[in-house]
Amino acid sequence: MEYHLGCIECKKTFHDDSLYTCPSCNGLLEVAVDVGNADFKLDGKEIKVWKYRSLLPIRIEPITLFEGGTPLYSIRSDKETKLFVKHEGLNPSGSFKDRGMTVGITKAVELGKTRVVCASTGNTSASMAMYSARAGLKAYVFLPSGKVALGKLAQAIMHGAKVIAVRGNFDTALRIVREICSRNDIYLLNSVNPFRLEGQKTIAFEIVDQLGYCPDAIYVPVGNAGNISAIFKGFKELKEAGYIDFIPRMIGVQAEGANPIFRAFSEGKNRITPVGNPETIATAIRIGSPVNARKALKAIYSSDGKVIQVSDDEIVRAQKILAKQGIGVEPASASSFAGFMKDYEEFESAVCIATGNLLKDPEEAVRVSEKPIEVEPDLEIIEKLL
Ligand SMILES: *Cc1c(COP(=O)(O)O)cnc(C)c1O
Ligand SMILES: [Zn+2]
Repeated sequence: MEYHLGCIECKKTFHDDSLYTCPSCNGLLEVAVDVGNADFKLDGKEIKVWKYRSLLPIRIEPITLFEGGTPLYSIRSDKETKLFVKHEGLNPSGSFKDRGMTVGITKAVELGKTRVVCASTGNTSASMAMYSARAGLKAYVFLPSGKVALGKLAQAIMHGAKVIAVRGNFDTALRIVREICSRNDIYLLNSVNPFRLEGQKTIAFEIVDQLGYCPDAIYVPVGNAGNISAIFKGFKELKEAGYIDFIPRMIGVQAEGANPIFRAFSEGKNRITPVGNPETIATAIRIGSPVNARKALKAIYSSDGKVIQVSDDEIVRAQKILAKQGIGVEPASASSFAGFMKDYEEFESAVCIATGNLLKDPEEAVRVSEKPIEVEPDLEIIEKLL
């Protein structure tokens, strides 16, 4: 397939897949694909990431664990809007990161790389460890020490990544990793890597494929801001290819304690000021200096979207409401639904992206839920409890 990399700032184009940022102005790169190549039907059948291969910039057989094809559940609520949750927690490693990783790891193999690295609040490392194990690559993972949910750490270790816990937050870990990649031949798989976002744009393709129409609004939890940018790009390509005739409003949701994009949007700016000490129960979006802020703000402004901030209490409340409808998600994932409820706007239809699985953060789930009742094995006592 034909494609090239383009800088979103200076608009220069490049044909070197090993670039992460623009060599001339350091801006973010985006993959420009030819939408005229799109050969799939949005017919609701055989939905998975590689169904959309004709718009994915990969030249070799993909490294895949059969990611994508995640359920789109309708949600009961007292609101008029027809609401759906796309449960990305049901991907192979339990988060949407797998969509980006199947493409990113395949690109690493295509480029002949043998080592890959990422900084991660947890899910990127879990996913990268899994896919590099599948591909036979050596994986290095940098985590903010003591701030990674247990399930994610367990995955990274078990799948054989070398895990390095940095005394500092995610933003510090990412800075170090980028430095390492500029000095060593190790492939960087954070969402600054434009190929990862190509995989993640399939969320947009799947939503239209599953619904049979284009919803009015998409609510997305925003941390490093790659996913909202990727989903927007997916809708843009569908529109350019003639599958849909409008792009949904992209609505970003951030935690109050880690809200640089919310602040920038509220002030009408298109650049962020980093938040120094990001803090939230939603560790997957505990990021103060989102790498993809420029792309995300463009997506939000140009789709007539907005950004909502939610408190940790609102996140936990949303997590529990989803759980009571059979949808188990980690805190960050519940923020999209929390945003929908907090700043309700009547759309005909909307989709909340639930980004990761409940089992990712079992300690949080136990902490905020009713504790098990411990009893003697006495039938009479037990029956009184029912
Ligand atoms: C990575 C992640 C996010 C944030 O996505 P960005 O692309 O960094 O904005 C949100 N929720 C979960 C569960 C994640 O793993
Ligand atoms: Zn540039």
